[in-house]
Amino acid sequence: MKRDDPRKSLSRDTVLAHGGRHPDDYGGAVNTPVVRASTILSPTLAAWDAKTRDMMAGVPGTYYGRFGTPTHRDLEDALTALEGAHRTALFPSGYAACAAAILSTTKAGGHVLLPDSVYFPVRKVASGLLAKMNVSCTFYDPAIGAGIEALLRPETDCVYMEAPGSLTFEMQDVPAITRVCRARGVLTALDNTWATPLYFRPIEHGVDMSVQAATKYVVGHSDAMLGYVACASSAVFDALARTSMDLGYSVSADDAFLGARGLRTMSVRLERQGRTGLALAELFAQQPEVEKVLHPARPDFPGHDLWKRDFSGTSGLFGVVFRPMSRARFAVFVDTLEHFGIGASWGGYESLVMPMNPKPLRTATAWPHEGPCLRVHAGLEDEGDLVADLEHAFAVMRALP
Ligand SMILES: *Cc1c(COP(=O)(O)O)cnc(C)c1O
Repeated sequence: MKRDDPRKSLSRDTVLAHGGRHPDDYGGAVNTPVVRASTILSPTLAAWDAKTRDMMAGVPGTYYGRFGTPTHRDLEDALTALEGAHRTALFPSGYAACAAAILSTTKAGGHVLLPDSVYFPVRKVASGLLAKMNVSCTFYDPAIGAGIEALLRPETDCVYMEAPGSLTFEMQDVPAITRVCRARGVLTALDNTWATPLYFRPIEHGVDMSVQAATKYVVGHSDAMLGYVACASSAVFDALARTSMDLGYSVSADDAFLGARGLRTMSVRLERQGRTGLALAELFAQQPEVEKVLHPARPDFPGHDLWKRDFSGTSGLFGVVFRPMSRARFAVFVDTLEHFGIGASWGGYESLVMPMNPKPLRTATAWPHEGPCLRVHAGLEDEGDLVADLEHAFAVMRALP
């Protein structure tokens, strides 16, 4: 794609293959190489002056290593095209992207709204940095929809969303919330890590900042930390870039390269992982030990209608609520699994389970279940092997006295 050709109408798969690639600039090499740098040289004083002017004006370019090199710029361009955004900023982790998005909207005396199902560390920024800045936070029921209006105050700066929610997968009525916020001049940000811009494009639904833990499906291989925020307008981007600058965020060129490398195959990985995830979810749903499966693409899930209306696909992450049982019994199930690693994070090519307990993380809503819970991530292994592994673990647990 030409640098000045946004071609926002191209299909997403084509953007994945061609976005942010400029072989002519790199001796014909298909991929933008890893350009590592601190110093960026200027050949003359006039060039230095021009560069300084451009940097002050926020023109995309390469000015100093901390602000990124062509490796970063090309990845940002690909993400901007994919998100249908004005401009994108990279961050050293998904969490850094979440925190910077919120911080960029608010100031001392401000107010921020966060869903009760928010990625847990974001609660920490509320009780930590935001509290220190005298910014108050209200946690809301993720199912609130247009009812968010009742929680807006004159000093509200930002409504933050995450759909589906972390661990518990509640969907949110994003267009209903952004309609209210736009009318009231309140900025919105949405953590879109589960769907990625392949299956949901927040900016098309009125969101100002589309936040992505690129560590997950963008990188896709469990080998780098990366985040980004795609912005709907220059005003939003400028405030975000200023926050990033103030905090000294910088992304290594190697990690930006791994982000671009992962992006090229994200569509085929997600399609397969989504399909396998649905098969695994169905298997869990059929077991007598399972109370509930938390998967937005399953018709019995409360947010399913919103998923069907707004999303165009499913990724491979979902939750399972077991009926109450002893920790020892639960441990036999988890420890018997051979193909599912036990660990946090997700989005790589390998299957994972993570034990979870949403109950103590809630303040605005109550978690009604007592049994142990697992978050399941479907990897790229053979579906039959994964199903057999789960069936075996259920059988071993069932054989216990
Ligand atoms: C993992 C995750 C994050 C944080 O990303 P890191 O790269 O691990 O910092 C943010 N939001 C969601 C929904 C996540 O799953």
